[in-house]
Amino acid sequence: MASVWMKRDARTIADELGHEGVTTVRLIYSDLHGVARGKDIPIAAFGEAAGAGVPFCSAVLATDLRHTPVVDDDETFGDLLARPDLDTLRIVPWQPEVAWCVADLWSPDRSTRWPACPRGALASVCERYADLGLSPTAGPELEFFLLERDPAAPRGVRRYVDTLSRSYTVGYVSDPRGVVVDMLDACERLGLQATTATHEFSNSQYEITIGHSSALDAADRGFLLKTAVKEMAVRAGLLATFMGKPFNDQGGSGFHVHLSLTAADGRNAFADEAAPDGLSPLLPQFVAGVLAHASALTALLAPTVNAYRRMVPNSLAPTRANWGHDDRIAFLRIPLERDRGARIEVRGGDAAAGAHLIVAGLLAAGLDGIEQALQPPPAGDPAAPALPRSLAAALDQLEADATLVAALGPELVATFVRLKRFEIERFNAWVSDWELDEYADHL
Ligand code: GLU
Ligand code: MG
Repeated sequence: MASVWMKRDARTIADELGHEGVTTVRLIYSDLHGVARGKDIPIAAFGEAAGAGVPFCSAVLATDLRHTPVVDDDETFGDLLARPDLDTLRIVPWQPEVAWCVADLWSPDRSTRWPACPRGALASVCERYADLGLSPTAGPELEFFLLERDPAAPRGVRRYVDTLSRSYTVGYVSDPRGVVVDMLDACERLGLQATTATHEFSNSQYEITIGHSSALDAADRGFLLKTAVKEMAVRAGLLATFMGKPFNDQGGSGFHVHLSLTAADGRNAFADEAAPDGLSPLLPQFVAGVLAHASALTALLAPTVNAYRRMVPNSLAPTRANWGHDDRIAFLRIPLERDRGARIEVRGGDAAAGAHLIVAGLLAAGLDGIEQALQPPPAGDPAAPALPRSLAAALDQLEADATLVAALGPELVATFVRLKRFEIERFNAWVSDWELDEYADHL
């Protein structure tokens, strides 16, 4: 783990934060949807809470987005413990009396990580890289839409900005209330390494980019970026959504992940300046591993029924398990940068994906490629296998992928699959507006 968890340190740090005017620590963690769950703890109680761990009903990880605990009949709704990673404490710029702290989930006796904790799964995969003398590096890239709540609008929301070709514009034309520039500033001051903000390709779609760092920290920052953007949008009276394809007439939102490996001497293990293409053999092996597991990974990368409407031809989202040099249609793009910048961009992720889960899954798949010295198919292969076309198909692939199930943990995968199959069941039972529009008049 990135930090050593010690009661005495928590007390000291709490005292320091108290002197800076912090009254409350907000202890948060990612559930299997990537949603932040947590509890607020008065600063005076934080040292004690950090020592004991903060209990939550463990069914929190098996609860769907309509409030149903999707659990076995014999579930007893026992506890898990959230234990703060003190390295992640950060004061919230828009609410400076509050400090956020990311938690790891543990068993009540504190002997083992909670098996369905996404952050714990990522930590385990990173430990396997450490055994090889490698440290994974990641850079999250997230898109989202900003919406106004409007009871008179067809679905209760309308787009914050609704003009064609606002792509890559900045300033009041594409951010009339200065909300995005405030978000950028807040994300930077929150320590998320914010680098740029812009209006993306679709109407009212935005992107705030953040830098790269070690995989656990990067996944935390991806998770916190979503949490921060959603929270700041609420403060501005808006709704920020990371659902992948909120509108029929606009493109979707992606969660691209940039990955490389750092060697013990600090050099980029994907780079080899002596090689004709400037890339070390580890990069194609990693690519081959991710492609070999692409169908199963799709369940994590595109984890909603909605996500499959984003992954269509000519959309800048992939439809095949392929790769290419500076190819934005491919599942894996190898950007042109070399040396420190040599990396793989995974373009398959839907913005709704959970940061810890996808980084864990991708790294586990890449590691399999390295351990087996796999070789990728040719770049830009138009006949590369198609990615699953539905969440149901992707979940079947994930469940059948023994390598990924072992790497992420059987209980995590089983909980995720059960939760998501229940979501599909509810979706399939629901009569949609499309059906009424299509059939009611004519049939
Ligand atoms: N919005 C596209 C997607 O869904 C990505 C556009 C881009 O390359 O930034 O993945
Ligand atoms: Mg983008």
